[in-house]
Amino acid sequence: MSETPLYPHIINGERREPLSGDYADVINPATGQVVGRAAMGNAADVDTAVSAARAAFDNREWRHMPPAQRSKVLYQCAQLVMANAQELIELEIGCSGATLTRASNMDIPAVADLWMNLAEAVKTYPFVEAQSPRPLPEQWHSQVWKEPVGVCGLITAWNFPLLLFGFKVGPALAAGNTIVLKPSELTPTSSIRLAEILQEALPPGVLNVVNGDGPSVGETMTLHPDIDKISFTGSTRIGKQIQANCATTLKRCTLELGGKGPGIVMSDANLDMVAQGALWGVYMNAGQACESGTRLLVHEDVYDSLLEKLAAKSAKVIVGNPADPTTGVGPMSTETHFHKVMGYIESGVAEGARVVCGGNQAQVPGCEGGFYVEPTVLADVSNDMQVAREEIFGPVLSVIKFSDVDEAIALANDSDYGLSAGVWTDDLVQAQQIARELRAGSIWINDWHMLRTDAPFGGYKASGYGREMGRHSIDAYVETKAVSMSFERAPERKAMHRIVHTQ
Ligand code: NDP
Repeated sequence: MSETPLYPHIINGERREPLSGDYADVINPATGQVVGRAAMGNAADVDTAVSAARAAFDNREWRHMPPAQRSKVLYQCAQLVMANAQELIELEIGCSGATLTRASNMDIPAVADLWMNLAEAVKTYPFVEAQSPRPLPEQWHSQVWKEPVGVCGLITAWNFPLLLFGFKVGPALAAGNTIVLKPSELTPTSSIRLAEILQEALPPGVLNVVNGDGPSVGETMTLHPDIDKISFTGSTRIGKQIQANCATTLKRCTLELGGKGPGIVMSDANLDMVAQGALWGVYMNAGQACESGTRLLVHEDVYDSLLEKLAAKSAKVIVGNPADPTTGVGPMSTETHFHKVMGYIESGVAEGARVVCGGNQAQVPGCEGGFYVEPTVLADVSNDMQVAREEIFGPVLSVIKFSDVDEAIALANDSDYGLSAGVWTDDLVQAQQIARELRAGSIWINDWHMLRTDAPFGGYKASGYGREMGRHSIDAYVETKAVSMSFERAPERKAMHRIVHTQ
């Protein structure tokens, strides 16, 4: 019998046993089986990792590395991801229930592509910008420098462990920071292994990973006096706590939180395209994605015909073992989460929604230990129901009727969240006008999940702040310093000195 693989912390360039000696099982959500055991960290492990990251920051080798050289390192990191893709895909599927098609066609290529984009961006990023000189006689030049923030604490969620690793580690490295990353304790294996692989490209201590649960390792990081910045992806509830914790040491903080993406379907839209696209928008990763299109606002003229198409297409989506290449929708991340999603479906029905497809636990032969939900379409939802207001984080679409465009825009914006929003229509001029009114960080017209590694991604309102991906993501990992230099040596010609010196 093969031994269960162990995943220790990665600190100062090497595998490190947890100081407590504790490991916890990592469960495959598709089958309920143990796929590994990961180190459970505590505050002392965090201290060790932060000291390693601080030393790597202070010794200047990394933070003073010329951008052109750091660009090469980022390329090397991207190449290491591709060279180890097969192993990383298997780990990602095993710990998070990602489907094979998602992990191989989206996550791995996106991480490599993002890091290659950043490798290019870092060469032209304005790390030093000259201001126009002040005119003679008192010549004075100023520059604006962008410097790394310092030691960055990166806290990722369980829904896309590798992708979120890529979104945060890439720009933090591009800017010259050092890192302590905490993956979700539910899904740590792919992140720990990727960090181990990347050590080949990075000086020791630049990238450290401490696994452990949120309340101990995560919270310790947010309060740690020697961590300069936190970047977090997860729930809005924990995001608020993190922001409050960061305030105690005035840490920089960026938050990528929940969403309740509204898609507005105008009456001229191609309904076959909408049916397919809206289901892709909500069922990708079994709905466990913050930017999912979970509220479909449909014009009354096409409401019934679209519902028919949605129900027919939804019934054909294959729920199955994520490792099977034909699977479209995999399991819920945990049993607890499964019950939460089922509870939302029940609450929708109790509040008057109509199930037009799905609504039950799905049975997957050979995966009896996993927790699967049938792809579910709820009709006759009103925007004040719980299913329309809260993040379900499962394969559940709430369909809401509207009669005119102003009502649709008001419904779309009537949400605490503002991460993604979209419009389905053939009238692209009207689509642009609607896009201008929607209060969300990403607007998608006639499709969903149109994320690009060179375009910024992030939220309005309770969906957080700060942007990931693209060169804009580097902005979140730099401090801005103004450096001014006087070329005037004659004291009497320094105009501002007269404020103090009267003759
Ligand atoms: P959390 O927000 O609790 O977890 C996200 C990350 O934060 C994990 O690494 C978690 O660690 C860590 N964490 C938890 N508590 C703290 C803390 N006090 N201080 C610092 N870090 C902490 O999400 P859940 O896993 O509980 O999911 C709940 C809901 O949140 C989901 O159903 C979904 O609605 C939403 N969510 C949104 C995500 C997004 O992409 N924006 C991602 C994930 C969830 P650990 O898991 O190890 O305890």
